[in-house]
Amino acid sequence: MLYQRSSQLFIEAEKVIPGGVNSPVRAFKSVGGTPIYVKEAKGAYLFDEDGNKYIDYINSWGPMLLGHSYPPVVNAVIEKAKKGTSFGMPTEIETEIAALAVSMVPNIDKIRFVNSGTEACMSAIRLARGFTGKEKIIKFRGCYHGHSDSFLISAGSGLSTFGVPNSPGVTKGTAHDTLLADYNNIESVKNLFLENPDEIACVIIEPVAGNMGCVPPIEGFLESLRKVCNENKALLIFDEVMTGFRLAKGGAQELFGIAADIVCFGKVIGGGLPVGAFAARAEIMDYLAPVGPVYQAGTLSGNPLAMAAGLAMLTAINEDEKLFERLEEKGAYLEKGLTEVLLKNNRKFVINRIGSMISVFFCENNVVDFNSAAKADTPEFKSFFHGLLQRGIYIAPSSYETWFLTDALTYEDINFTIEAVALATQS
Ligand code: PMP
Repeated sequence: MLYQRSSQLFIEAEKVIPGGVNSPVRAFKSVGGTPIYVKEAKGAYLFDEDGNKYIDYINSWGPMLLGHSYPPVVNAVIEKAKKGTSFGMPTEIETEIAALAVSMVPNIDKIRFVNSGTEACMSAIRLARGFTGKEKIIKFRGCYHGHSDSFLISAGSGLSTFGVPNSPGVTKGTAHDTLLADYNNIESVKNLFLENPDEIACVIIEPVAGNMGCVPPIEGFLESLRKVCNENKALLIFDEVMTGFRLAKGGAQELFGIAADIVCFGKVIGGGLPVGAFAARAEIMDYLAPVGPVYQAGTLSGNPLAMAAGLAMLTAINEDEKLFERLEEKGAYLEKGLTEVLLKNNRKFVINRIGSMISVFFCENNVVDFNSAAKADTPEFKSFFHGLLQRGIYIAPSSYETWFLTDALTYEDINFTIEAVALATQS
């Protein structure tokens, strides 16, 4: 495949956009090469500026659960746009989508819309702090909750209880209030509670981690987490920005039967427009301004185009009784096919999958947390990535990412993908 025009466009972009991109992972830094410039996308396919076609396993990092240019979403946005694009005043459609989301997701009475997953998680911890009157939060190493200061914290040196910033610009003060635990390790959470009595407002977690590759919770982990939070009067926040409306209508809460106190959304809930949301029972949500003391706001929050896209998306998901069954079947078929060809090619690998989220790690150990994910072989991933790209398969340009399947994917596409993996991993 040739990438002449993409390469040229990237050179032009680098002159006026830092690193040429508006979000770092798009830049192919960890796999090398220049990013592909998309011209258009339809269903399961991407078409780039050089005329190449790809089967898309990124799907805008999750939102396109039903495929690109999904007609009900596109039409809803076009129709809305004709009536004005933003008012900064209430509109009926905000209540419609809120009511639908509340009816689909367990344990929530009210929801507030924002513009990104970052905003949703940032606002959720402020609300948790306001509600509990406590200041510290626990997050898990390897979980990503957007780029707000409190979450850009990596492992602490020395005293493991205190995080250190992993980006300049995040203050030590902020890092001090973010405590780090290990995913799937309940003891690490219990220890933090013991070391910080009555100081922890909330624990925030991706109920299925998707930002260290796909790492599902081990049996009993989320249940224990719920229990530990209850015992310590801390709120449990599920960051369902990836899993919400993707793993089930009601997300991970429904799938695992665990009730979170606050739930964060993004990606699918906006149908591909910039939307995030956070939700909880009324008692918690009514702590928000204008009824409560915790401030949170947004000029474009509840934007009519975004709400139209989100409403069309959630309606389609809600009305399709077989959607999650189909996604599970496609995921299982892909997993089986990948396993067979990778075994045949004598690769050492681990595949983690839940429904339509799947990752291939090139390592021998089980991947259950950030440390084990980090052992996956990076050079091997690079050649895997480029081998697939050359064959028209677009996966995320980093081994720490999840593949997102779309319902638009056909079994023919999946067979083509398995064949491409077979060829790309031949020794
Ligand atoms: N939480 C999770 C679990 C995410 O995966 C992401 C984005 N990948 C975010 C939060 C941040 O969302 P956004 O990029 O929309 O700000």
